Amino acid sequence: MSTDVNVKMDAIPGLDPNAMPLQVKDLHVEFRTRNGIAHAVNGVSFDLQPGETRAILGESGCGKSVTAQAIMGILDTPPGFVTGGEILYRGVDLLKLPEAQRRKVRANKIAMIFQDALSALNPVFTVGFQLGELFRKHRGMSRKDAKARSIELLDLVKIPAARQRVNEYPHQFSGGMRQRVMIAMALALDPEVLIADEPTTALDVTVQAQIMALLAELQRERNMSLVLITHDMGVVADVADRISVMYAGRVIEEAPVNDIYASPAHPYTKGLLESIPRLDLKGQELSAIKGLPPVLTNIPRGCAFNPRCRYAQDVCRHDPPVPLYQVSSARTAACHFWKEVKGDE
Ligand code: SF4
Repeated sequence: MSTDVNVKMDAIPGLDPNAMPLQVKDLHVEFRTRNGIAHAVNGVSFDLQPGETRAILGESGCGKSVTAQAIMGILDTPPGFVTGGEILYRGVDLLKLPEAQRRKVRANKIAMIFQDALSALNPVFTVGFQLGELFRKHRGMSRKDAKARSIELLDLVKIPAARQRVNEYPHQFSGGMRQRVMIAMALALDPEVLIADEPTTALDVTVQAQIMALLAELQRERNMSLVLITHDMGVVADVADRISVMYAGRVIEEAPVNDIYASPAHPYTKGLLESIPRLDLKGQELSAIKGLPPVLTNIPRGCAFNPRCRYAQDVCRHDPPVPLYQVSSARTAACHFWKEVKGDE
């Protein structure tokens, strides 16, 4: 894809090309519901360097997708509200931008792939029309040029017979091919940051591997930064540079991927790793983290993980919340007993 595009990002004051593509600082999001306030995101922070892949990992309801929606500015408000923090794109806080400018960043610089391609695509328009609309709207291209660019994109994401398939409707594509169309749409405007929210959850295992390989290849070619949201530790091992593990709306461990796999410093991370099926342990019962994630309107005091934690002691059950301990220069964990968990004591 060419990048000779007329993107008027200079209309956004303060953009610093030397600043990081994405920085999230102390982000707070709550949902005001009839049953009370659900504290969905409670002080999430992370950075994203050019070309870096950051996996955000955790069970359903831990706040990972809500974090992504807040970054994209697509939270349902009400009931969802960003109540604190900053989301910086190249040094500019997106939360302070007027909606028109924010939309410009969303369309051109930070794109998202959703987990369910079938509901994200419009069933009554061909994929070519939906792709072409991006070029017509955001690049002012003619119908003919937009169609040619759409075919190029379908080729790029390795959809066979792109010239014919550009005229087909979403239901005529298999699940894996639809997800490729979603990737094509996300890449259409050459974003610097791509957020992939469980991009392979709805697919079978072999197609999952193909989609992850495609994403990694496209990211490398374009030096794009990738935020990969997943509940599956198996998916991130090969592709992520750093991992943020989330629980009850907080990042409870943050580290380079190899460190986490070698010796997790938080019992929750350790539980997630132990629950990955392993061929060398065939015949043994699969380990699982006991209990359920907390209800976000009533998060346990102290450490939110304490009711499920095999290392918990009295200190874990009382306020204040557990601070983030510096495990190493590149690594933090929110556990009083991280040394014991890691096996250092
Ligand atoms: Fe478990 Fe306590 Fe560590 Fe929380 S702080 S993870 S309850 S040991």
